[in-house]
Amino acid sequence: LFITLEGGDGAGKSTQVELLQAWLEARGHEVVRTREPGGTMLGVELRKLLLHGEHVDPRAEALLYAADRAQHIATIVRPALERGAIVVQDRYIDSSLAYQGAGRVLDIADVRRLSDWATEGLQPRVTAILDIAPQDAAARRHARGGAADRLESEAATFHEAVRDGFLAIAAADPDRCVVIDATLPVDEVHAQILARVTPHLPQ
Ligand code: C5P
Repeated sequence: LFITLEGGDGAGKSTQVELLQAWLEARGHEVVRTREPGGTMLGVELRKLLLHGEHVDPRAEALLYAADRAQHIATIVRPALERGAIVVQDRYIDSSLAYQGAGRVLDIADVRRLSDWATEGLQPRVTAILDIAPQDAAARRHARGGAADRLESEAATFHEAVRDGFLAIAAADPDRCVVIDATLPVDEVHAQILARVTPHLPQ
């Protein structure tokens, strides 16, 4: 079972990924918790270049995310799924559609084709999109003193476009995606994720 969590920066994905992992493990499932960008050694290097390097041209950026994704899926995610583990992943293709597509205004169909090629078409069964207004997310990040990266300085319109991108993805694929209000209490968000995941759990 392949589960992804998506959403804007500061939506609380890492907290929810940890809670979901703990819940699944307490019920005896093998869980692989991972993330993009940066789920492999190659990915850690790409993450540094993408988030802390010089300005990256949008097409180059899309290719680097795709390279990270290809390595991650081939070496971590597919082997885990093949042995029957549950993969709980922080960000996947939808992040590229939202950030490199909707945010950077690359053609979304091109970004999708690139990601599909990189992953040989691997799709998650469940995707929880944690939705939060960009200004609320920014307030949260500052409150917890989070480290700034390149996207912190993007215009508000960029983050709005990303948010709209995620919401459009969810609207187009309701069987896979659930949108959850990320301003709800942590336990409530967790419960809504579980409600969506539970029917797909292996017996
Ligand atoms: O969620 P995380 O902190 O790992 O994301 C790292 C940064 O990379 C975030 O600023 C996120 O917006 C950005 N990102 C991106 N395109 C992706 C995935 C992440 O711009 N496909």
